[in-house]
Amino acid sequence: MNKIKNQKTVSASQRDNSENSVNSVKKIRRLALLLLDWFSQNARNLPWRHTRDPYAIWVSEVMLQQTQVQTVIPFWERWMRELPTVEAAAKADSAKLHKLWEGLGYYTRVRNLQKAAQVIVEKHDGKFPQNFDEVLALPGIGRYTAGAICSIAFNQPTPILDGNVIRVLTRIFDIAGNPKEKATNARLWQLAEQLVGRAVLCPPRRGEDTTPYRCSLLNQSLMELGALVCTPRNPQCLICPVKKLCVAFKERRTDELPNLAKRGMATARHFIAFAMERNGKCLVRQRPAGVVNAHLWEFPNVEVSVAPSSRPSPPVGDKVTGGRLRGNAPAYDSNVVAKAICQKLFGVKPEMIQPLHTVKHSITRYRMTLEAFHVRLKNSPKKLAGVWLSPDEFDSIAFTAAHKKLASAAARSILSSR
Ligand code: SF4
Repeated sequence: MNKIKNQKTVSASQRDNSENSVNSVKKIRRLALLLLDWFSQNARNLPWRHTRDPYAIWVSEVMLQQTQVQTVIPFWERWMRELPTVEAAAKADSAKLHKLWEGLGYYTRVRNLQKAAQVIVEKHDGKFPQNFDEVLALPGIGRYTAGAICSIAFNQPTPILDGNVIRVLTRIFDIAGNPKEKATNARLWQLAEQLVGRAVLCPPRRGEDTTPYRCSLLNQSLMELGALVCTPRNPQCLICPVKKLCVAFKERRTDELPNLAKRGMATARHFIAFAMERNGKCLVRQRPAGVVNAHLWEFPNVEVSVAPSSRPSPPVGDKVTGGRLRGNAPAYDSNVVAKAICQKLFGVKPEMIQPLHTVKHSITRYRMTLEAFHVRLKNSPKKLAGVWLSPDEFDSIAFTAAHKKLASAAARSILSSR
C-alpha cells in the first residue's frame, strides 16, 4: 500500500516539475518575443549600432564599462576616426592611446585593449576571431564582453550578463539570491542563455529585414530595457513591455530585487596639489607604471592624512613620510599648510601661493578631495622631476580626470595674472 502511495507522490512531483519546466519554456518564449518587439520600436540610435564590425563593437563595449552611453559617444567616434582598425589600435603609441581615453578613466581597459589588438594581429592575422573561446582568451575580455561581441557582431547565441541584465532577470524571474553568489550567478547565466537561444527560433518581427540578427537584437534589448525602463530606482513598470511576465511588478517587490550586498562605507582621502608656475610654465609629471592611472599626467601633489572635516594645523614639526603628511594641532589655514608642504617636500620657497581649485571625485570606494594651489616660483624645485609646460601645451598630454580640471583652472589663472 505504502509503495503505491509513494509511487503516486513521485508521479505528482514529476508532473509538477514538468509543468514548471513547460511554464518556464513558455515564459522564455513570450519574453523573447516581447523584448524583440519592444526593441524594434524603441532602440536608441547609437553610432555603434550602425555597424557589425567586431572591432568597433568591442571598442564600444569596453568604453561602456563603468561609463554612461552619452559620455561614451564622442569618445567612441573620435577613437574610430583616429584608430579605425585593429591594426591601427595595435601599433598606436601609448601617448596617443591614453590621450584618446583621457576622461574615461579605468585606464587598464585601454592598455588591455591594445594588448588584445596586438594578439589579434599576431595570432589571427589581424582578423577578429569569431570563435567564442578565442575571443574570451584575448587580454581584458571576460565572459560578458566575449558574449556581447559574438552575439552583436556575429549573431551567435552567446549570453550576456551585466548589471542591467541582472536587474531585469532577477525582477522578472523573482531571483532572490545575491547575483554574486555562485548558484544564483549560474542561474542568471542560464536564463540569459535560454533567452538568447530562444531568439533564434522567433518568427520575423514587424519591419524586420530578411536576415534579422535576432541574437544580437535580443541581447541588446535586454541591456536597453535595463538602461531605459527597468532602472535601479523607480523602474517604469507601467510602460514596461514585459510587465505581465514580471514577478517583481506583480508582487510590488522591485525595491527588493536584485538582492545586492550593501556597499561598505566610503573612505575619504584628501590631496593637496600644486600648479607650480615659473616663467609662465607649469611643472607636470607622469604617473609611473603599476599604479592607478599609470602613465597619465598630473600636477605635483601629496596626500594628507586627514579628512576635510578634521584638518590638522600647519605642519610645524610634522613628519613627512612616503608622500604623506601627518600632524595634528588646532587651527587650519590651507595656504599655510600648502606653503609648508612646498618647502618640505619640494624644497621651494613660493614667491606667491593662492588657492586655485578644489575637485571632488570618487574612485572605487574612495571619496577624493583634491585641493589645488597656484604657486609662483623664482627657481626650479630641486626635489621634483617633471616637465615644464605652458598652458597651450596642456592639451598635448593626457591628464587624469581630476588633474585635467586643475589644468584648465591653472591655465585660466596663469593667463589672467599676465
Ligand atoms: Fe523591470 Fe518593472 Fe519591467 Fe519588471 S515590470 S521588468 S520590474 S520595469
